[in-house]
Amino acid sequence: MTTSHSLPNSKSSASLSSAAANAAAASFAALNAQLCYLDDADRERVRLAYRFADEAHLGQMRKNGEPYITHPIAVAAICAKWRLDVNALMAALLHDAMEDCGVTKLELVEKFGSTVAELVDGLTKLEKIKFTSREENQAESFRKMLLAMSRDIRVMLIKLADRSHNMRTLGDVPRSKWARTATETLEIHAPIAHRLGLNQTYQELQDLCLRFLRPWRYQTLSKAMAKAKLRRVDMLDKVRYEVESSLKEAGLNAKVVGREKSIFSIYTKMEKKKLSFAHVNDIYGFRIVLPKITDCYTALGVLHQLYKPVPGRLKDYIAIPKNNGYQSLHTTLVGPASINIEFQTRTEEMDIVAEVGIAAHWLYKDKPVGNTSSTSVQESLGTQWLQSLLDIQSETHDASEFWDHVKVDLFPDAVYVFTPKSKILAMPRGATVLDFAYAIHSSVGHHAVSARIAGKVVPLKTELTTGDSIEIITSESSSPGPIWLTYVRTARARSKIRHHLKTLAQTQSIELGQILLTQSLRSQGFEKLPPYKGSDKSIWDKVLRFTGSRSYDELMADIGLGKRIAPIVAGRLVGQLLDRGDKPDPLLMTLERFDSQDQLSHGAVSLDGSEGGSVQYAVCCRPLPGDTIVGYLGHGEGLMVHRTDCQTAQRLLSKDRERFINVDWAEETTRSFDTGISVTVQNGKGVLAKVASSLASAEADISHIDMGTEHAHDIAELNFVVAVRDRAHQQATLDRLRRTASVITAIPSQTGVSD
Ligand code: MN
Repeated sequence: MTTSHSLPNSKSSASLSSAAANAAAASFAALNAQLCYLDDADRERVRLAYRFADEAHLGQMRKNGEPYITHPIAVAAICAKWRLDVNALMAALLHDAMEDCGVTKLELVEKFGSTVAELVDGLTKLEKIKFTSREENQAESFRKMLLAMSRDIRVMLIKLADRSHNMRTLGDVPRSKWARTATETLEIHAPIAHRLGLNQTYQELQDLCLRFLRPWRYQTLSKAMAKAKLRRVDMLDKVRYEVESSLKEAGLNAKVVGREKSIFSIYTKMEKKKLSFAHVNDIYGFRIVLPKITDCYTALGVLHQLYKPVPGRLKDYIAIPKNNGYQSLHTTLVGPASINIEFQTRTEEMDIVAEVGIAAHWLYKDKPVGNTSSTSVQESLGTQWLQSLLDIQSETHDASEFWDHVKVDLFPDAVYVFTPKSKILAMPRGATVLDFAYAIHSSVGHHAVSARIAGKVVPLKTELTTGDSIEIITSESSSPGPIWLTYVRTARARSKIRHHLKTLAQTQSIELGQILLTQSLRSQGFEKLPPYKGSDKSIWDKVLRFTGSRSYDELMADIGLGKRIAPIVAGRLVGQLLDRGDKPDPLLMTLERFDSQDQLSHGAVSLDGSEGGSVQYAVCCRPLPGDTIVGYLGHGEGLMVHRTDCQTAQRLLSKDRERFINVDWAEETTRSFDTGISVTVQNGKGVLAKVASSLASAEADISHIDMGTEHAHDIAELNFVVAVRDRAHQQATLDRLRRTASVITAIPSQTGVSD
């Protein structure tokens, strides 16, 4: 990663002190001490590579002021922990020499042989890949990374060691670079480490990413964990003692090691399940390492006798290994003080694989172990995965399609679903049919009605499961409503819906504003609004200057929302028209002012229930089609529709008459409306069911039930809000209720009604 390297130009600055040289020598000595698994000749080759790299990097400094060579040494030391062979260690020491110091591949071939040169070349190419979050580029970068890896898996291992050291020292780098490097590590390097079974590296990378992406959260969490551990230390000691002695009693030679969950995994669990730290109850665990596989199962039996197992938490990864080769028996037990404790039981070989995954291949190399087959199993698991990816890569020519395939392996937390054309889509866990529709195209999302999964029609809020093949059913007349926001999980769908609702509300307010302004204009003798264009535009511009509106649309929306009074704006507009010499039509004026019988034809706002956010129906009187109604233009909240006989409306009318406008129902309404019904019943078994079924047969859907105060023990009051088409439908519903057994009375229940 060049971002974390500091590269002054002068190779031999005078400031290069002997102290720096000593620091380099000291860190190499530490590395050398780790190389006891190599023979003398190989150790000498490593030393030569170090000398060469040291010379090449001379004068270059890390951000922390140490000589640059300390970085390649640290990378080689990580590789030595995995016991990588001599060629890999040399390549680790030389990994930045080509990129940063102008050393050629040929030079490396001559000095260190072609294997080392190829490894360094592979790493240099990897270094040049610039990762971005844009999907197409990410796919392309990954494809290159994969090619480098497929040539030699050691390239990837050295790369992961390199990234680990750069992440460990990220604190030395300017803060502005933290987010980019950490995000890239979290998205690319950590998943690869996981897939190759390098669990230690995987967890360390994740924890480091969290530390630099959310420094504050990381600090608080690690403090909380330390504190919790301190509090539990006696309990954990007790558990360890009890487990150790029980296993000994059963004749098992076990190594019991305490462990705790990584900070990152606790953090993600808290985020996902919206838990506080105090509520994360499985932080502690023990790993039990035994000589033989049969011992693992025996130990499991012993554990389950010692403490109560948590149901559903027993997993046999020995019989069915994870796809990165991981093997273990997992179980969670309820320990003292009701603390959940996870136990992992495995053999020594499995333990090594669990920690370092594919690197176990080198760890095993010179070590004669009982079950040698697991080495080759490990190796073939890694290469099999690579091979399958290479197959996919040769089959798919579209980079993002390739990436989609790879993600299946790298990100097991996603859900993978298919389009009708068998294109695979990765969605976050919990995503719904509607998310999927928006993932395909925003126009598919906007018009989605339902979906077909495996031949069955399912609603939009249905959660997706991996393997689903989904066909979205659309309709031109369907459009997003506010409720859709509760159906979706993805940011993409949410923002598309929000945007649509916002522009929709805007359009509706503009239309309403135009109707209201036209209405006012007609009462002053002008037939219709002059268009906002041509010679009439200058008239409008004067009106806009008067109102201080930024645009014609803004003025109309303001009128529609009740922020401006239509007659006042109309007065201004008429003034302009008269100035210009336009003449008002006296007949129109008379009609509008004095004939209130035939309002519909004269610009009353006609309502059919499809108005959306700009028109609301008052809850105080719950107007229904068939009622006579009035519209009140609230201050900034749009048009509120009341029944004419509503007491609230009457009060407002006496105070604020100019805010009232004519409204009427359209010939046909598009939806049902809520109305309140109060039912008094003879209390008894199943009475609610009887009333509910009576409402159902009257085709009145219940949207809310409230069991009111009981008048007496044997009489109860039930309050419903039900959806009806109109006033006549409400009446029919009441009639049906009154004929129902056990019902004493059934009446409309809102204020301002007295029938
Ligand atoms: Mn490096």
